[in-house]
Amino acid sequence: MLSTMQDVSLTVTRILKHGMTIHGKSQVTTWTGEAEPERRSFAEIGERATRLANALRDELGVVGDQRVATLMWNNSEHVEAYFAIPSMGAVLHTLNLRLPAEQLIWIVNHAADRVVVANGSLLPLLAPLLPHLPTVEHVVVAGPGDRSLLDGCTPRVHEYEELIADRPTTYDWPEIDERSAAALCYTSGTTGDPKGVAYSHRSIYLHSMQVNMAESMGLTEKDTTLVVVPQFHVNAWGLPHATFMTGINMLMPDRFLQPAPLAEMIERERPTHAAAVPTIWQGLLAEVTANPRDLSSMSQVTIGGAACPPALMEAYDKLGVRLCHAWGMTETSPLGTMAHPPYGLTPEQEWPYRITQGRFPLGVEARLSGPAGDTLPWDGESAGELEVRGPWIAGGYYGGAGGEDFRPDDKFSEDGWLKTGDVGVISPDGYLTLTDRAKDVIKSGGEWISSVDLENALMAHPEVAEAAVVAVPDDRWGERPLATVVLKEGATASYADLRDFLARSVAKWQLPERWALIPAVPKTSVGKFDKKVIRKSYADGQLD
Ligand code: ADP
Repeated sequence: MLSTMQDVSLTVTRILKHGMTIHGKSQVTTWTGEAEPERRSFAEIGERATRLANALRDELGVVGDQRVATLMWNNSEHVEAYFAIPSMGAVLHTLNLRLPAEQLIWIVNHAADRVVVANGSLLPLLAPLLPHLPTVEHVVVAGPGDRSLLDGCTPRVHEYEELIADRPTTYDWPEIDERSAAALCYTSGTTGDPKGVAYSHRSIYLHSMQVNMAESMGLTEKDTTLVVVPQFHVNAWGLPHATFMTGINMLMPDRFLQPAPLAEMIERERPTHAAAVPTIWQGLLAEVTANPRDLSSMSQVTIGGAACPPALMEAYDKLGVRLCHAWGMTETSPLGTMAHPPYGLTPEQEWPYRITQGRFPLGVEARLSGPAGDTLPWDGESAGELEVRGPWIAGGYYGGAGGEDFRPDDKFSEDGWLKTGDVGVISPDGYLTLTDRAKDVIKSGGEWISSVDLENALMAHPEVAEAAVVAVPDDRWGERPLATVVLKEGATASYADLRDFLARSVAKWQLPERWALIPAVPKTSVGKFDKKVIRKSYADGQLD
């Protein structure tokens, strides 16, 4: 029997219309580096997004599901693009501005982007790429920056503000199939070519609703979220869409992502929430330790994208800022788990839950796959590869313009689950603890050593700023851990001190024999430890 309910599609257009009317007064504040940040209401953003859609269609000739790329920081124009492009039926393609030039060229050509909307400050990056981007016919430039860098380029160049000025403030938004692509994001390509994940209108809608549930981030219009996680990385964890659903105000750092301006904007604008990867929080902690700032407005911070060292969580607890650990990936939109402890526990009882990766929300089904492909129990002990499925989990990768829409890959099981490549255990009450990425785990004489466990233990040492542990080849054991450590300024700890400290919390056979002090841990384009680079430095003899 069919239901008697209306079949209204779940689209980004509906999120836009809702946010600009029902929550019209909520604001996007963008840091400018000037005395005053720029402030725009959701009503204004919605109107400007509508004018942008008119301009893209009438002036630039964007039709159908053509790809419109953005090369932008987190700011209000980027939010406008987030809504204008999918709502008109086109596909928003967010470009990761930290990728090497050749990867960016590969990605733009793979997606056949017709238009690039770019921040003026990023033209030094974009201009040299353009001769290699034959599909790009238009470049739209927003915000400060030297336009002369585009002199003589083949695509037509448009000034964002001029382009959207005098355009109609209404648009006959098409009724879009909710399963069609709204946004395209490529994984950072730590191995092989980047892989495109095409989010549907429906997946974005459902994911953002989950982001807004109390079980997840649970913010409302009385909140302001500091969106440090880039809009070019997994839709800024769904926040631009989630905010338009419930009127959460957004504070956007634009290009001011260094610890000092972040500390200043938190003290001045008093956000109640923030979202960023651990390396950002490490940097901010060092900054406020040296130059104290009031961070107390942030009652909740979402930290994820890489394992959060428990010592970092403790340090922020002391500042009155509660870090909530989350796990996800580009393929999971990204919300996969969040570590809210069960209700009614004391702080001591909460702690073991807080340092897990968290619980699966409704919409994310999980299973653990053992070495022989068997499904393992949720007993908190059996370690296996995490596999997930759900309405906002990728089922394949984008085949590229002119190719198949949907390219299967060995990341997906035969019965349609995503194989995450993350190894861990799940407790009987559904809390996930990741021990490592399958490719980072150290296989020593038939036993597995978790690089994350060693890193967390090392980062609890008072003189250690950062530590990354990788597997290196070993004649006797196959692989052994190499600990690379960044000491805090003025610290003098020796390898023996660090080893003794580690021995207090780690089994003796897991203790590294190989150590290297390094000035900084190399980071990937989205600020995670780049272990590939460390392994290569070691192989090249640079870390002996
Ligand atoms: P990339 O694979 O290029 O790093 P993603 O941003 O999609 O791009 O990374 C997803 C991966 O990041 C996950 O598969 C996992 O290994 C890691 N990750 C994300 N969140 C956490 C977390 N809270 N704890 C440990 N690892 C995490």
